Amino acid sequence: MTLSARDFPTDRHGWSELLSTRHACSMIEGAIRTPWVVVGAGLTGLACARRLAELHPNDEIILLDARLVGQGASGRNSGFTVGVSHFPGVFNSDEKANFARVNRINQAGLDILDQHIKALTISCQWDNGGFHHGAADKTSVKEHKHFVNYLNAMEVEHTNLDQQAMHARFGTSLYQAGVHVKRGALVQPAALVRGLADGLPSNVRLVENCPVLSINNGNPIKLQLGNGEITADNLIMATNYEAPKLGFLRRRLMGSTLSGSFTRVLNKQELASLGSHKSWGVISLHSGGATLRLTQDGRICLRNTAEYSGAALLSPGALKVRQTIHRSSFEKRFPQLVHVPFEYAWSGVEGISGNGTNFFGQQRKNIYLAGGYNGSGVSRGTAFGHTLADFASGGQSSLITDCLGSATATWLPPRPFLDIGAMFRISSRFRGVGLDR
Ligand SMILES: Cc1cc2nc3c(=O)[nH]c(=O)nc-3n(C[C@H](O)[C@H](O)[C@H](O)COP(=O)(O)OP(=O)(O)OC[C@H]3O[C@@H](n4cnc5c(N)ncnc54)[C@H](O)[C@@H]3O)c2cc1C
Repeated sequence: MTLSARDFPTDRHGWSELLSTRHACSMIEGAIRTPWVVVGAGLTGLACARRLAELHPNDEIILLDARLVGQGASGRNSGFTVGVSHFPGVFNSDEKANFARVNRINQAGLDILDQHIKALTISCQWDNGGFHHGAADKTSVKEHKHFVNYLNAMEVEHTNLDQQAMHARFGTSLYQAGVHVKRGALVQPAALVRGLADGLPSNVRLVENCPVLSINNGNPIKLQLGNGEITADNLIMATNYEAPKLGFLRRRLMGSTLSGSFTRVLNKQELASLGSHKSWGVISLHSGGATLRLTQDGRICLRNTAEYSGAALLSPGALKVRQTIHRSSFEKRFPQLVHVPFEYAWSGVEGISGNGTNFFGQQRKNIYLAGGYNGSGVSRGTAFGHTLADFASGGQSSLITDCLGSATATWLPPRPFLDIGAMFRISSRFRGVGLDR
C-alpha cells in the first residue's frame, strides 16, 4: 500500500501555536543506506533515537516524522506525566504485581524525562512535584475511595483532600474530594518534544515533514519517501495510532480524538481567585471527566471531549462546536472567571487498543514497534521508546521484561463494524460522568 503526504494532515491548533514558528531543516533526496531508522518523532521515537545513538555511537540514526515535531499526540496532550497509574474500580489484590509493573514503567519514563529536561535545560514548564486527582460527582466520589485504597495498598505517597482543601488549592468548589500524588509531573507538551528534538545527540539525523509512504519489509528493509528511499538494517516504528497505515497492528490499534481549550493569560486578580497554588493539574477520577490545568504562564487549560472520528483531528468547525462543551465545563468550575475568553482550542488523536493494553516488541525480522498508550503515554511512551532501543540492540533488563509483560491486544472488527464498536467504546467512557465533565 502506498500513501501520500495528504494522509498525514495537521492543523494550526495546538500547544505548538503557543510557541514560536517551527521550520523543518533537513530533507532526504535520493537513495541512502543506514543501520537504523526510527519512524515517528513523538516521545516514543525521540526517546528511542536518543538511546540508540548512545548504544551505537558510530552509527547514524535516522529519525523521520511526517509532520513537524510537536504536531503529533506528544505535542497535543494535556501534559500529565503519570508516575502512578489509576486503575479504576475496587482494588483487586490479584492485580498487584501487574499494577506495580506498569508503575515501574511509568516511573522509569518520568525519571528519563526529568534527567533529559535538566541535562538539556529544556524550558517546558516542567514541574516534577506531582498532580491531583479530583472527584465532582457521585460516581467519581465512589471512585475516590477505591483510588485511595489502591494507593494505600501499593504504598504510594499521597495526600487525601476534602472539598475545602480542593477549593483552597484551585479556587473551585466543584470537587467534593481529591488526592495529590507526589510521583508525577506537569509539562507544556509541545515545548518538551521540541526541546528533546533540538537536543538530540549529533549522530541522530532528524528529518521532519517526511512521511514514510510504504515499507517493503524484505531483508534489507526499504522505506519509500516522497523524494527518496532508505534502505535500513533495522526499523523502529513509533507511529502511534498511524501504524496500521503502514500495515502494522491492523485490527489492534485505533485512534480516539480528544479536544480542549486554553484561556488567555489571566491577570493578577484573576489568578488570585484560583487558590494558593501557582500552577497545578487536576485529572478526573471519572475516565470521561475533564483534565484541568493552570499552566505556569497563567492560562487555564481544560480538555473534556473524546470521540471516534476516524483517527482524524477535528475540523475548525467541529472544534468550535466542542469549544461550547469546554466553555460550560470551565464556567461551572470558575464562575468568578466567566468574563475570561478562550484564546485557543486544540484537538489531538490518542492511540487506543480494544482492551487498554500497550504495544512493545518485535513485529517482524529487524522491525520493532512501541505505542498505543490509551491516553497515558507521556511517561510510558518515553520508557517504551528508550527500552525498545535496548531490546532491538539485543539487550536484556528488568525494564524490557516489564515492557514485554503487556497483555495481548484484543481484535478489533473491520469497518464499518469498527466505527460502530469504537463509537460505542469511546462514548461509554462518559457514562455517569455528571459534574466531572
Ligand atoms: C488531547 C490528548 C491529551 C492527552 N493527554 C495525556 C496526558 O495528559 N498524559 C499522558 O500521559 N498522555 C496523554 N495523552 C496521550 C499521549 O499524548 C500519547 O500517548 C503519546 O504522546 C504518544 O507518543 P508517541 O510518540 O507514541 O506518538 P505521537 O506523539 O503521536 O508520535 C507519532 C509520530 O509518528 C509520526 N508518523 C506517523 N506515521 C508516520 C509515517 N508514515 N511516516 C513518518 N512519520 C509518521 C506522526 O506524525 C507523529 O508525530 C493525550 C493524548 C491526546 C491526543
